[in-house]
Amino acid sequence: AKRHARGQHVFFEPGQQQDLLEQQFLQHQLAQAVQENLLEVYYQPILDAQTGVIRKAEALLRWKHPNRGFISPAVFIPLAEESGLIHPMGRWVCETVMQQLKTWDAQGLPEVAVSINLSARQFVQPGTIQNLLEQLERHNLDASRIIVEITESVFMQDHGVVEEQLSLLEEAGVKIALDDFGTGYSSLSYLTRFNPHYIKIDRSFVQQLDSQNTSTIMEAIISMGHHLNKEVVAEGVETPGQQEWLQSRNCQYLQGYLFSRPIPAEAFADLLKDPPDG
Ligand code: C2E
Ligand code: CA
Ligand code: CA
Ligand code: CA
Repeated sequence: AKRHARGQHVFFEPGQQQDLLEQQFLQHQLAQAVQENLLEVYYQPILDAQTGVIRKAEALLRWKHPNRGFISPAVFIPLAEESGLIHPMGRWVCETVMQQLKTWDAQGLPEVAVSINLSARQFVQPGTIQNLLEQLERHNLDASRIIVEITESVFMQDHGVVEEQLSLLEEAGVKIALDDFGTGYSSLSYLTRFNPHYIKIDRSFVQQLDSQNTSTIMEAIISMGHHLNKEVVAEGVETPGQQEWLQSRNCQYLQGYLFSRPIPAEAFADLLKDPPDG
């Protein structure tokens, strides 16, 4: 079967009837889960690489299935995209994140910005960006508190629509992160075509830093980011060795299991209150 990049249609070949039924079943259950409020937003800290202070969090959806346990967003996001459920889900994620930011603010916690993932489909869907901006206004939150993470698959959508959404965000002051950087086919040309504030280096690079070729490429990406005035975030940092390497190259932000997995909002608040030493 041809599995396209994440965030796009998944096509099944006839031999995969079993799979297809399974997918349809899950799709049905997902719709129910949305209604029954069985989705949750988890937060993964993003640290300032030099100080170790938590500056941001990435919002990551979780589906707690009653008898299958956690189902990975890598599985259910594509299903939600096929059924269109992704759109109400996305609005719910934005609303939940903004309410959470207000709650943390009210608790006097240090201010963080939260990045929200938008798939290509979501990004070009009429209303997605307007809705996000309305929600910011309604919650009286500064635009700097939300970052929108997109992948280059967005640029395979209608260019006019993409430009429109980008300029809406830019006018409002919402920054964009180019996610999974380096894994696509033409990331470099997109850096010149629009202006992401952050580049998130995909974890596949971070995890191969011990290869000479990969570390050379990483050095080039970080230095290019600096020259283009972009802030570089490294994802998937799992070892102190990777952390040191990234710190010494002045990569600005670090995210990964070494610091914390994605965790529920309350646990994240505890981390903000009481950061671990280091
Ligand atoms: P992503 O945007 O690339 O998110 C980063 C993924 O890397 C997350 O997987 C995170 O748990 C994982 N990760 C972080 N640090 C480490 C590490 O040190 N080691 C390893 N091995 N993994 C690490 P997760 O939460 O399973 O999410 C998978 C994908 O699902 C995300 O990839 C994103 O594309 C999508 N997704 C999640 N939540 C949402 C959402 O609210 N909306 C949309 N459109 N997509 C979402
Ligand atoms: Ca992301
Ligand atoms: Ca990513
Ligand atoms: Ca990824």
